[in-house]
Parts: sequence; C-alpha cells; structure tokens
Amino acid sequence: MKTKQQPANTATKIMKLEELTWKQIDALNRTSTIVFLPISPLEQHGPHLPVGTDFLTARDTATEAIKLLHGRHPKLSCVLFPVIPLGFCDFNVDFPGSFSVSGKTIRDVVYSIGSQLANHEFRFLVICTYHMALVHLKGIYQAMSKLRSRYGLRVCEPWGPYFHSKAMEEREPKLGFDTAKEVHAGFRETSLMKYQYPYLVDPSYTSLQSVYRDVFSPRVLGKTFKELGLKEGYIGSPARADVDYGRWFFNETVNVYADAAVNLYKGAPIPDLPKHLKTAMKALFWH
Ligand SMILES: [Zn+2]
Repeated sequence: MKTKQQPANTATKIMKLEELTWKQIDALNRTSTIVFLPISPLEQHGPHLPVGTDFLTARDTATEAIKLLHGRHPKLSCVLFPVIPLGFCDFNVDFPGSFSVSGKTIRDVVYSIGSQLANHEFRFLVICTYHMALVHLKGIYQAMSKLRSRYGLRVCEPWGPYFHSKAMEEREPKLGFDTAKEVHAGFRETSLMKYQYPYLVDPSYTSLQSVYRDVFSPRVLGKTFKELGLKEGYIGSPARADVDYGRWFFNETVNVYADAAVNLYKGAPIPDLPKHLKTAMKALFWH
C-alpha cells in the first residue's frame, strides 16, 4: 500500500537521548547514527533578550537540522543530546544571569561526552554552539582534536568556521550597514529572537541606541563589558532588528549544521576556523 509522504517537519519525531533506554541506544546503527550536541551558555544579552539566547538558538537549530536530515537522508539516525548550558563568558559575569565556566571545563565536558560515545562505538558527533567566544571555542577545538586522535571520532563544530568565513558575508541579505559590528545582542541576535521567540523580546529594544566596540582590539582583552562602558550589555544596533533577517539567519544555521552532518558522514574534509583565529587561540592562556 502506498502511503502519502508527509512533510518532514510534521512526520518525524526527534530522537532525544534523554528519552531513550540504553537498549534503544545500543540498537542504533553505529555506521549511520549522528549525535548532535548543543552547547552554549546562559549569558546576559542586553536589556531586551533572554539570557538563554545562545542556548535556545543552539538547541532549536540543532533540532531543525535533524528534521531536515530526516527528510533528505532518511537512512541516517540523528540523536539530539540535551543542550549543555555551559560556556566561557567571563566578560559578562558582572551582569546577573551570566554563568561562565573555564575553557578547560568546556574542553573536559566535550571530551568526556565524545569519548564515552566513542567507547560505545558511536562514530559521528556534531557540536552545535552558537557562542563564539574564543576561549569557549578553544575548549571545543582542543576536545575535538583529542577525540580525533585518540578515538578516530568524526567530530565537527560547523558554525565557527562558517560564521568566521567570507561565506557568511557573501550569502547574507544586503542591508546597507555593516553587520560585522553586530557583536552581541545587536541586530543579528535581536532579529533571531524576534523570529524564534517574539514574546521573549522586550519591546524596549526599539528605543535602544546603537553601541559599537572593537572587541578584537588588544586593549579590550580581559575586560568585562561593564569595564568597557557597555552598561546595558549589548554591542550593535538592536533597534534595527528585522524578523525576515532573523528567519534567514536561523535557517542558514540549520542548513550549515545539516550539511556538516552529511559531510561528516561521507568522510568529506571538515572545515576549520580561519588561521588568524587559530593563531589567536594558541596565544590565549586558559581562563
Ligand atoms: Zn549570543
């Protein structure tokens, strides 16, 4: 009997790791199972966005990427790990609602999870982080390289290399202003939250003045947002937020995750962070 194919979004149930028994986990085909691990901290995001902005985005984009893959590659089994609410964000801890852990903690958490998956012969792990702080990324990238060399685990973190590459700039809708300056809780993230969770965006965002800072300047290194005069906790222009851009940005992330998972599965080369970031990361002492 021919059954009518339902659209992927409604037909599929996401396999959440926490809902499975060990028997169900053990029954997963190791050669076609991809585990998605979202990890992003709770961190202040200006006076207008929830502290879970990165946390929610990492979780939701990973979930949608899995739905997309169900439709495109039904033979793959995708498992969603519960989102780990951790990240390095020392520069924001003088605001309540920011919870920072060290880069070493991030490294140990990612390595512990990855190695235990590998011990049970799982082969593919996609790390979904929406938090781009360098110390945080350093923890993830050190864990990934140890997981590759010790276990041969196929592991990637797709958003960092994409976000920091020219591809993002090239594909982004043209807006007439420099989105690279939208560093934290600015146009990009406010648009994203307006799209995903409009009821969690404080309407006061429309009257927030644009605030810019070069966070890559050596002079700001080790300083907190408040020490840099960023009293409200955002960098960029939240008032410009646009729901259509938010939709584009969200879907772009979903596609980047889904494509990375397929490439990982096929054994294609794994994109790395650009050289200047790798160099900066090496020079960073652990925090
Ligand atoms: Zn953020």
